[in-house]
Amino acid sequence: MKIAVLSGKGGTGKTMVSVNLATVAAPSVYVDCDVEEPNGHLYLKPENVEREAVEVLIPRSNPDKCNGCTECVRFCRFNALAYTLDRLKVFPEMCHSCGGCKVICPQKAITEFPRTVGYVESGQSGDIKIHTGIMNIGEVAGIPIIDRLSEKIPEAGNVFVDCPPGSSCSVMESIKDADFCVLVSEPTVFGAHNLNMVAELVRTFEKPFGVILNKDIGGERNPSEEYCLKNNIDIIGRIPFDRKLGLLSSEARIAVAEDSHFKKLFSEILDNIKEAAQ
Ligand code: SF4
Ligand code: SF4
Repeated sequence: MKIAVLSGKGGTGKTMVSVNLATVAAPSVYVDCDVEEPNGHLYLKPENVEREAVEVLIPRSNPDKCNGCTECVRFCRFNALAYTLDRLKVFPEMCHSCGGCKVICPQKAITEFPRTVGYVESGQSGDIKIHTGIMNIGEVAGIPIIDRLSEKIPEAGNVFVDCPPGSSCSVMESIKDADFCVLVSEPTVFGAHNLNMVAELVRTFEKPFGVILNKDIGGERNPSEEYCLKNNIDIIGRIPFDRKLGLLSSEARIAVAEDSHFKKLFSEILDNIKEAAQ
C-alpha cells in the first residue's frame, strides 16, 4: 500500500510521522518528496547511498537561424523567454521544459540541452529502503525530481511518501499514486485552516484519507479536531504533546525504535490506516 503523508504547512510533524510509520511497518520504503528541505534521511541514516542527477531539457536558440519573430516568446506561458538586443534570452529557472517553443519555432532555430535541477539519493537503513529527492538551491519547481522518485516506488509493499508541505503542484504530484493519504495537523486555528486546504486537495483527487492530530493536549476539543468532526473526517490517530517525543525528534531519533510506548502508538495508527484504506 502506498501511503502519502501530508500537512498544510511545515513543522506539523509530517516527517516524524512518516519515519515512525515506515519503521513500524518495515520492511518498507520511505520516499522523501519534500525536495526543498528533505530531512527524513537525518532520522533514518541510510547507508550505501547512491546518487543520480535529475536533468531537464532547456531550449537554446541558434542566432544564425533565429529571425526574431518572437513567436516562441508569446507562446511561453511561464515567461521563460525574452527577445532583447537581437537575441533570444532564456531564463532556465522559469522554464518548465514543455518543449513547446521548439515545436512552434518557424525557423527550427531552437535546440534543447540538459540541465541538472537536483538529485535522487537511494540507500538502505535496516529493512527500510530510502529514496530522497534533493532540489538544487535557486530552482523553483521540484516536479522533475518528484517524477524521478515516483519511478523508484515499487508496485507492492509498504510505501510511505513524505510529501512537501502545503497544497502546491508538487504536493499533487506526490500523491498521484497514493492509495491512502494521511493528513497531519496541529491543534491550533492556523493548523485547522491548513488542514482544510489539504483536505480539499485530497478530495479533489478523490483519495481516501484520514487525519492524525499531532501535539494533542487532550481535554477540550481543539480546532483541528472540531474541523474533522464537523466534516465527518476520520481521525486515525492522536499523538500526544509529549516532551520525550519532542526531545527524540529534535535529536533525529526514531521514537518507535527507542520506546515501546511509542512503538505501540504508531503500530495502532498503522492498523487504523490499513483499516480505513479498505
Ligand atoms: S520562434 Fe524561433 S525564430 Fe522566432 S524568435 Fe523564437 S527562436 Fe527566433
Ligand atoms: S520549453 Fe516551454 S516552458 Fe520552457 S521556454 Fe520553451 S515554451 Fe517556455
